[in-house]
Amino acid sequence: MILFKTAHQLNSYIGQHKEKDKRLGFVPTMGALHKGHLSLIDRAKTENNITVCSIFINPTQFNNPEDFKRYPVTIENDIEQLIASECDVLFLPDETEIYPAGFKKRVYSLGKLETILEGYYRPGHFQGVCQVVDRLLHIVQPDTLYLGQKDYQQTMVISTLTNLTGNKTKIVVVPTLREKNGLAMSSRNLRLTHTQQERATTIYKTLVTLKNNLHTTSISVLEAVASEGLEKAGFKVDYVAIKNAKTLEAVTESKSGAMALIAATIDGIRLIDNMLLN
Ligand code: AMP
Repeated sequence: MILFKTAHQLNSYIGQHKEKDKRLGFVPTMGALHKGHLSLIDRAKTENNITVCSIFINPTQFNNPEDFKRYPVTIENDIEQLIASECDVLFLPDETEIYPAGFKKRVYSLGKLETILEGYYRPGHFQGVCQVVDRLLHIVQPDTLYLGQKDYQQTMVISTLTNLTGNKTKIVVVPTLREKNGLAMSSRNLRLTHTQQERATTIYKTLVTLKNNLHTTSISVLEAVASEGLEKAGFKVDYVAIKNAKTLEAVTESKSGAMALIAATIDGIRLIDNMLLN
């Protein structure tokens, strides 16, 4: 694996390979890599000649400065995992590489996506995500971008971003990888004790219950009971929402294409997860 720290070096490497018509897959991450991230790398490797992974903890997408300060950093372990996965390139920029002096912040028109669910509870978060992804796409120029379903609303935001900027990169959404007990793999799980991880599986169990009861119970009752169950298990719930997966609007009478999305905090650690219900 080749490691590049500057956009300039990475650009010239990519330029050479583009000339040879090589397909390039890109997996942007914030590090603290786990098997979920590696499933994106694996998918990119099967569909491209070159797979680039980036690790950059983007300060502009953290609406909570404490969360940014406590974000896990495991760079040596990350590099070992990327080498074992046979990732071709790691882009490991520092902040000045991504946001050089004079960098002009753009405001992205994300419409409703910015005011609902994650957009509502994490003001400014999706603007930060767009800023960094716009910049990374510009530097890496991938044919295909690989994103995890775990951050479902983020996949919709990035798809809006590429439409807004006329970027032709194809987006592939990879299913969420889970622990054996159902807990969605996440870098933030590193901050959970074993007992907290056990308790955190309540989120997955709640999603399964919502799926099993979708057609026998009204949406509002499903959401309220699920939220109450999570609160009883010790979570502070931001939302339990059943929405149309394509639009994130209310589901229709037929409940087809429904997705459940949950954001809840356990002992100060905020977790999100989602599941297609039919
Ligand atoms: P992050 O490092 O958290 O910014 O995540 C980088 C990418 O990995 C994003 O596209 C995430 O959606 C994806 N990802 C995170 N967790 C998982 C998981 N458990 N399964 C699949 N993809 C994931």
